[in-house]
Amino acid sequence: MPVESPYPLVSIDHALNTILAHSPLLDEETVPLEEALGRVLCQDVVAAMPVPPFPASAKDGYAIIADDPSPVRKLVGEQTAGRVGDLRVVPGTAVQIMTGAAIPEGADAVVMIEYTSRRDDEVIIEQKVPVGNEIRPVGQDIEQGQKVLDRGTTLGPAEIGLLAAVGLDRAPVYRQPRVALFSTGDELCEPGQPLAPGQIYDSNRFSLAAAVTQSGGIPHTIGVVDDTPQALEQALAEALEVGDVVLTSGGVSMGKLDLLKPLLEAHGRVHFGRVVMKPGKPVTFATVGETPVFALPGFPVSALVSFELFVRPALRHMQGDPAWRRPRLHVKLAHALHHDAHRTEYQRAAIEVREGEFYARTTGYQGSGRLLSMVGAHALLELPPGDDYLPAGATVTAILLQPIGTL
Ligand code: AMP
Ligand code: MG
Repeated sequence: MPVESPYPLVSIDHALNTILAHSPLLDEETVPLEEALGRVLCQDVVAAMPVPPFPASAKDGYAIIADDPSPVRKLVGEQTAGRVGDLRVVPGTAVQIMTGAAIPEGADAVVMIEYTSRRDDEVIIEQKVPVGNEIRPVGQDIEQGQKVLDRGTTLGPAEIGLLAAVGLDRAPVYRQPRVALFSTGDELCEPGQPLAPGQIYDSNRFSLAAAVTQSGGIPHTIGVVDDTPQALEQALAEALEVGDVVLTSGGVSMGKLDLLKPLLEAHGRVHFGRVVMKPGKPVTFATVGETPVFALPGFPVSALVSFELFVRPALRHMQGDPAWRRPRLHVKLAHALHHDAHRTEYQRAAIEVREGEFYARTTGYQGSGRLLSMVGAHALLELPPGDDYLPAGATVTAILLQPIGTL
């Protein structure tokens, strides 16, 4: 009799829905704009003031009365940006004005410096301009009371600039999830140290910490933990102390020292322990108290693919990002491929654009230990079970992991 796992194989959708149901929205906080990049707004932002807040010149030139018939105007002063003098334009006069400066009283148009000539303290207007010419009216860019950003927006450079433009020095955002993580395995050695026989370097801790950061979380690294119940127990307790989320790798399959599942059963509830996917089948999700715990498989690609499919959505969801799902794209295969007939397989691929069409080329041998198969991958190809062969030119779904560069 083959040894069977006691955990039923659940579908990817079931797994994801279970995770989202146990990934609560985090609290709100405000952060200085300098620290707001990538954070998610927890409120709509309404402009308390118009932009520009005063009628402003759009060009360097002269502020005039548009319908003033006199071709030559006497200069009565100059107005630079940020300085408002006691100036008044009346028929027969003009004020020299710079871009961004307030329009002086009496003036109703600006004529660009290129359409004028200067004679001592007089300016000759060489082109007639309409009322309002080159004047940016109050609220041209943003009206007072206008909603400028929606709750759930991820802040990038333009959004952060907009907050500053309406006078805010802090952004109201959701807190970032703190993710406590450790690697399990007696065979794991710290990079930088010499390897003893039978050892390999711990790569998951570093790849997963980077993936946490990229997902907007704050990694809290606990380290390498030996495959003993005591060491794992202690590491889990520490992780639960500091983490909004706990993330582990290794120790979830059918080996003698795969101790994570029983440990999580003892302390909380294991929601699933196997998913119909490749790689990543033994991925395990539990809650201990309210804390979501992801126990990812140890193979480096399995760990990252299951992070991508399950942990990243949870971390984005907890930060209030409605776009927690990656974009999906239909692509054509640049070559034939074989895939798993029984589980949804995620093969790593580079995407090329040829004559406006997207083509996917897998990144070589797709072994779940071969991290190089994720290097240069723009996407995961989602290959549903069934026929295990797809010819070149077949259309498949690609989950985009990063922008498609020119190749
Ligand atoms: P496990 O899931 O613990 O059975 O591990 C599966 C495979 O992944 C084994 O070959 C492990 O040596 C390897 N592995 C486990 N953890 C790590 C890690 N943190 N970094 C690199 N390889 C790992
Ligand atoms: Mg192990």
